[in-house]
Amino acid sequence: MAKLTFLGAAGCVTGSKYLVEAAGKKLLVDCGLFQGTDDLKQRNWSPLPVDPKTIDYLMLTHAHLDHTGWLPVLVRDGYNKSIFANPATIELVEILLKDSGHLQEEEAEDAQKRKWSKHPQPRALYTSADIDPVLRLLKAMPRSGGFDISPEFHVESYDAGHILGSSSLELTITENGKKNVVVFSGDVGRYDQPILNDPKTPAAKQIDLLLCESTYGDREHEAGDPLQLLGDIVNRVVKRGGSIVIPAFAIGRTQTFMYYLRELENLQRIPKVPVYVDSPMALSATDLYLKHKEDHDVEFTRDEQGGGDPLNVHEFHLARSVEESKQINNVKTPCIIISASGMVTGGRVLHHLAQRLGDARNCVILGGFQAEGTRGRALQEGAKTLNLFGQAVPVLAEIVEMGQFSAHAGKSELLRWLTGLQVPPKQTYLTHGEPQAAQALQQAITEKFKWKAAVARYLDSVEV
Ligand SMILES: [Zn+2]
Repeated sequence: MAKLTFLGAAGCVTGSKYLVEAAGKKLLVDCGLFQGTDDLKQRNWSPLPVDPKTIDYLMLTHAHLDHTGWLPVLVRDGYNKSIFANPATIELVEILLKDSGHLQEEEAEDAQKRKWSKHPQPRALYTSADIDPVLRLLKAMPRSGGFDISPEFHVESYDAGHILGSSSLELTITENGKKNVVVFSGDVGRYDQPILNDPKTPAAKQIDLLLCESTYGDREHEAGDPLQLLGDIVNRVVKRGGSIVIPAFAIGRTQTFMYYLRELENLQRIPKVPVYVDSPMALSATDLYLKHKEDHDVEFTRDEQGGGDPLNVHEFHLARSVEESKQINNVKTPCIIISASGMVTGGRVLHHLAQRLGDARNCVILGGFQAEGTRGRALQEGAKTLNLFGQAVPVLAEIVEMGQFSAHAGKSELLRWLTGLQVPPKQTYLTHGEPQAAQALQQAITEKFKWKAAVARYLDSVEV
């Protein structure tokens, strides 16, 4: 009997890992890092309940670290088989893991130097040296359509419209001549967003088990035209002589913001203020966004064919080195700074916020999901001070939440995606959501579709 075990993203939004066991083989889907609260992060240090040496195959839904960021530990602990992903995901994973290796090292060094860790001898979860062994195992599978991982496991991929390369995966398991189908939603993106295609629902004719993400299972994104709203903010802040800090990851949201800012400049709806993208990897990520045309929606293809450079603003500055990043502190006239991490858990955005949060003329735009326990969530919930580099920095800047820039489907978009399924799943488990969000989506599914649905529980196993 095939079974699936929730090794992460069950009761929380991070640490995605699902283990499928069938016909004497083990397949791991995603290998994400736990992020957010200390309790969650602690899980990154515990060995997997299954010996990585005994896992036979691994496949990835997309490149985000909460789906791939634990690969270096898994491989160091003995996993040495193929890691299947589509070409765009493979290229993004390389950028992301190298960056993550550096960040882990930097964080451990910083903790040691400034003594903010609870551990007397803080060490890195992994280092840059752990990345190459992972990259060597990455093997390409098609962007869309079918692929045989092994005689037991066949997968069909669908564009999930969440970030470049993101997929929903339909896994067919063959065991003793019998076929069972598991559908993994992966992270589902938004409909009618720029650059990427709309999410596509898998066309399975049989679904024995569905795992559906529920990041925004309990709420809708704010209504309103993102172009108009962003234009209003830029004009308002520039008028009062302030600057805008946008915590955003180099991959995905950075490109979305660049797209809208350029559009606003072209339409002459905002003044041409300097835009600083403070990330060594933003440019490589943007290049990948331009390169992988298979992921582009119709409008973006049209923009590109028109000869434009739709992801570039007029006064663009890229900060690669730490020195260039620090020089942005000297900019006293209005500017826009886009810098990671998106949930303010680390990265260069910390020093930009330390620099600019205390000035009421400035503005911080929160465009993505802010997980429990992160500084981003604290800002979202109206914190009066923010702990940065061991100091309580007063929050005087305007904080704006712009769900319109989220890369995740809102509640009704998740239901729209589910409506596209051609058969009702025999069982549905809600994953990748905080408890309240997962429960709300479970209720909505039960009411709307009358399916059997439950919230996934960490380390639980279910029969397929
Ligand atoms: Zn994601």
